[in-house]
Amino acid sequence: MNLYPLGLWLAGRRVLVVGGGTVATRRVPALLDAGADVLLVSPELTPALHGLVTAGRLAWRPRRFEPTDLDEVWLVQVAVDDPVAAAEVSAAAEPRRVFCVRADDRTEATAWTPAVTRHGPVTVAVLGGGDPQRAVRVRDAIGQRLADGSIPIGEPVSPVPTTGPAPMGQVILVGAGPGDPELITVKGRRLLAEADVVVADRLVPGLLLDELPARVELIDAAKIPYGPAAAQEEINRILVDRARTGATVVRLKGGDPYVFGRGGEELLACVDAGVPVSVVPGVTSSIAAPAVAGIPVTHRGVAHEFTVVSGHLPPGHRLSLVDWSALARLRGTLVVLMGLKNLPVIAEALLAGGRGAGTPVAVVQEATTGAQRGLTSTLSAVAEDVATAGLRPPAVVVVGDVVNALRLDAS
Ligand code: SAH
Repeated sequence: MNLYPLGLWLAGRRVLVVGGGTVATRRVPALLDAGADVLLVSPELTPALHGLVTAGRLAWRPRRFEPTDLDEVWLVQVAVDDPVAAAEVSAAAEPRRVFCVRADDRTEATAWTPAVTRHGPVTVAVLGGGDPQRAVRVRDAIGQRLADGSIPIGEPVSPVPTTGPAPMGQVILVGAGPGDPELITVKGRRLLAEADVVVADRLVPGLLLDELPARVELIDAAKIPYGPAAAQEEINRILVDRARTGATVVRLKGGDPYVFGRGGEELLACVDAGVPVSVVPGVTSSIAAPAVAGIPVTHRGVAHEFTVVSGHLPPGHRLSLVDWSALARLRGTLVVLMGLKNLPVIAEALLAGGRGAGTPVAVVQEATTGAQRGLTSTLSAVAEDVATAGLRPPAVVVVGDVVNALRLDAS
């Protein structure tokens, strides 16, 4: 006999879950995600399920299963270990014609739940012929290939054949992460694989671009031959123009698009031009660079705040928006991006503003890449130490006691 695969629309339909342990905890979120009206019957609940009940996301009957629990129910998930209790649910479900998923014994079930992976509009559901591990292996293999673009998801099919002007494309500002190509988000990677045009910054991981199929137009924003201001306008123009030809344009930016990445300007340029635009946040170097150097930007009992600041202008510069003397009075963590060139004057300003000379400072260059290097020092010595070590941009400077928070030795 063959199984008949099916996708269920559960929105607003009651699904009964019998049991409140780890199996139920794993099954309930997908039911809620599908909009099901979940009723949980169990004397006990895990803290996670309790949280969902408190938040009003599902109904709970705090007792053992009774056949009337199946009233109005479209589907039942049996998530108990006890085969006798589970068989009781099956026995009550069958005459009521309610499909019954059994976590304890799939041979007694009338419905099986597949291993699932979702990629944009595509849902892949794999049933392993009774071997859940096989299903997970196949699911992961397919999921991997969908994520890296080697199985293309393709354009959404438009219901009406279009004539006349090309349909409008879109621009997506995607954070590429700090350098390690694995530190892009799952969503960012999928959209990159679907792009027709990729406009990439200097700091985006080269390996991500390596993976792009040959049909993709790759524009290196760092090579635009104008001054910085004109180059930004040129980038904005490219984004808008390409989207207007119907292309899906991914604007790939180092770290997070909105952390000193001029993402906001590009978004506004698209909005002004009537081009659909969205943003996919990224892992920012301001948190990731300290992290991979063994520095948590906050730590219990050490720092209750972290401030991220650009050091591209020296303290006191006419155009600077940073109040360095106010930063010097903070007790928490200070993370300075683009601050290497001005490090001597930045350190001076922080010392002048009252931050202690012995305050620990770390500098992390090319964090999360194979070329990562760095040093730790103090506020009074760091400028000289960086010069001696020959550290270069891109680098993140971390000021504060968190620098030593995870160091067990006192050195
Ligand atoms: N949007 C980016 C920051 C852009 S400004 C983000 O969220 O990470 C560029 C600055 O970011 C660099 O001068 C440097 O200070 C920092 N930076 C970016 N990548 C880095 C890396 N891999 N290691 C250290 N610093 C990095």
